[in-house]
Amino acid sequence: MKRKVLLIYTGGTIGMEKDYETGSLHPFDFGNIFKKIPEMKLIECEVALHPFKKPLDSSDMGPKEWKIIANYIGKNYDEYDGFLILHGTDTMSYTASALSFMLKNLRKPVILTGSQLPIGDLRTDAKENLLTSLYYASLYENNEAVIQEVAVYFEYKLLRGNRTLKYSAEFFDAYQTPNYPVLGQSGVHLNVERDFLWRPLPDSVFHVDDHIDQDVLFWRIFPGMQLDHFTEIPKVKVLVLQVFGSGTIFNTEKTKKTLKMLRQNGTQIVVISQCVSGGISFGKYSNSNIFAEIGAISGYDITAESAITKSMHLMGNPKYEGNFEDNFSQNLCGEMTLALKN
Ligand code: ASP
Repeated sequence: MKRKVLLIYTGGTIGMEKDYETGSLHPFDFGNIFKKIPEMKLIECEVALHPFKKPLDSSDMGPKEWKIIANYIGKNYDEYDGFLILHGTDTMSYTASALSFMLKNLRKPVILTGSQLPIGDLRTDAKENLLTSLYYASLYENNEAVIQEVAVYFEYKLLRGNRTLKYSAEFFDAYQTPNYPVLGQSGVHLNVERDFLWRPLPDSVFHVDDHIDQDVLFWRIFPGMQLDHFTEIPKVKVLVLQVFGSGTIFNTEKTKKTLKMLRQNGTQIVVISQCVSGGISFGKYSNSNIFAEIGAISGYDITAESAITKSMHLMGNPKYEGNFEDNFSQNLCGEMTLALKN
């Protein structure tokens, strides 16, 4: 049976071509994609195109576009077997993370991909990324989708979307999931690591919850950071605080005072690590004790991209019972490992 895939083109290098006379990049008419990559027709699936009217560099993608994409997938969920989103690489991990929280109980693949070189370039990586993504987006067994989550496919690897980070602006192999195994690899055969795939709860029903509250701030601490600059404590709902190693921060009175004032202002503090591999473990060193004292929330091994979008999604979300802290501490869709070893 021919599976139906909805391809949403948002922008980025993958939809660009190079003018070899001037050397500049410009977007091509996406309706011509089948001419650019005629091999698309050889894949056993039917592809419907939905290009954004104005393709966006992914640095212009944000909550507004995440909601548009989530709701568009929601509207077309029954009609298509899989969804493929072509996206600029710079913020793809944010969009993948946000969508993973918005698309509840997915039972169909939502794959994001892009490229480091434009489609018209001789050495482009766009072709392989697009073609293999289509395979994964239409992969079914016994009438059930093999991938039932938001994933990123890039340079021969299928990765959990909300675990990805863009770690290279240079190499084709641009994404990693340092805290989660690869979900699939494309070599001579298209392989899937079944044990690592996410599955929704059996009786749960797919729906879209596009709640986003942008009142979230992100701080990365550094040795010698002058907290004295914060004479006025920001009134922000969530502060994602990126600290050292497994959860340490300079042990000064000023630090304690600043963090305590933030908490008194009602700010939730989510603590994540500057290390890309491993994560937070409160209590391991005394320099993390302040976090337990002020009631900060551990982000365990979550990425910054996921911590930010998860905070946006959960803060003030009427569909979640209970408090922000308890909800953030749940592993909602494979974004964090709760029991990290000390
Ligand atoms: N600046 C581009 C973007 O993220 C880079 C890319 O597509 O790879 O939209």
